[in-house]
Amino acid sequence: MSSRPAPFGLFGAAAGSAIFQLIREAGPLARADIGRITGLSKSTVSQHVERLLRLGLVTEEPDARYPAGRKRKQLVFNESAGYVVAIDLGATSVDIALCDLGASVLEHRELLDVAVSDGPQRVLGRIVEQVDDLLAKHAITPDQLYGMGMGVPGPVEFSTGHPIHPPIMPGWHKYPIKEFLTERYGCLVYIDNDVNVMAVGEAKYGAGVGVENQLFVKIGSGIGCGVILGGRLYRGTHGCAGDIGHISLRGNEELCSCGNRGCLEAIASGRALSRLGTRLAMDGESFELAQVLTQKGTVSAEDIAYLARRGDPLSLSLLRMSGQAIGEVLAGIINFINPSLIVVGGGVSKSGQRLIATIKEVILSKSTPLATSTLEVVPSKLGGMAGVIGAAALVVDEVFSQERVFAMVNQEGMPSAGGD
Ligand SMILES: [Zn+2]
Repeated sequence: MSSRPAPFGLFGAAAGSAIFQLIREAGPLARADIGRITGLSKSTVSQHVERLLRLGLVTEEPDARYPAGRKRKQLVFNESAGYVVAIDLGATSVDIALCDLGASVLEHRELLDVAVSDGPQRVLGRIVEQVDDLLAKHAITPDQLYGMGMGVPGPVEFSTGHPIHPPIMPGWHKYPIKEFLTERYGCLVYIDNDVNVMAVGEAKYGAGVGVENQLFVKIGSGIGCGVILGGRLYRGTHGCAGDIGHISLRGNEELCSCGNRGCLEAIASGRALSRLGTRLAMDGESFELAQVLTQKGTVSAEDIAYLARRGDPLSLSLLRMSGQAIGEVLAGIINFINPSLIVVGGGVSKSGQRLIATIKEVILSKSTPLATSTLEVVPSKLGGMAGVIGAAALVVDEVFSQERVFAMVNQEGMPSAGGD
């Protein structure tokens, strides 16, 4: 706490909003702690705290560490002051969650009868149906709904919230998802690429808590990477930073869903594994894979992972090839960005430690020793919930951005002119 830059020298609403961020990020804190950290006087702290209490942004609770008689109190961020809705749009499913302002999931629903390829009208129609039902069930009024966050499986221009030429989302190019939801619910709406959203989730509430520079790598039907630098998501100029699935690898001529040849995604993703596995099965190269093909009509990445765990040599070599290709691309990125953590998530990563071990092995052999000296490669902690928790975290962070809190505190501080 003592290493935090003190908002000393801030006045008025700026000091109020800095005190709020301090409570939200480092709380619970006693009023005296806030005075000590900020250097503000007791009466100034008190003035700001009273204002934050009136706004309902913080609450003051007895400090459990002291006996009841001592009456020491602490200020806590009021996570139940409002709600956010988090949506994770996957290739073949949609996850919707109602969350509090601490990104804790109050209710989670998974829709399995809707695919992104059904197009925006049908998908958004089903989402709205569920969101309306969730809000009604929990008796949430429009003013209690602070915002909505949504991750989608394709490139998104963050400023507009429009998907841009998303390869696996036919009909969604420049579709105004943000405008549609804003108009319907009248709250703040943020749309981002699903991998960025998951990266935020893991960094705030999962395997990457407290790590300044980290990468989240999703290995699912596609491959993507979320980049967290200095504790913040790095989106790049147009919002597509971290799109490692379309970095090409030498000696790879496979056609990719983006139209290019040789992309990482075309040989190492779940879709690629399924295609390669099916090909090997059809060629009669593996009895086990051929058996799966006969039974199911196709070989999925999950089937390959299952057979690999049972020791099938061809399935093992497919997973190894995928891990090697991903490791090779990551090795270059690690040299360039020098993160201290890589979190690996997504459906294919569930195939076990073996894939992560191969990725790690390649990284260690191909990145520079200094870049890998303290580097950790770990599995996702949030698993299938990374998308919704990340979408909630993303929108909560935007709702409580420095500027928004400043505006809230500033408004509250104005002499009442018969406004409300
Ligand atoms: Zn590609």
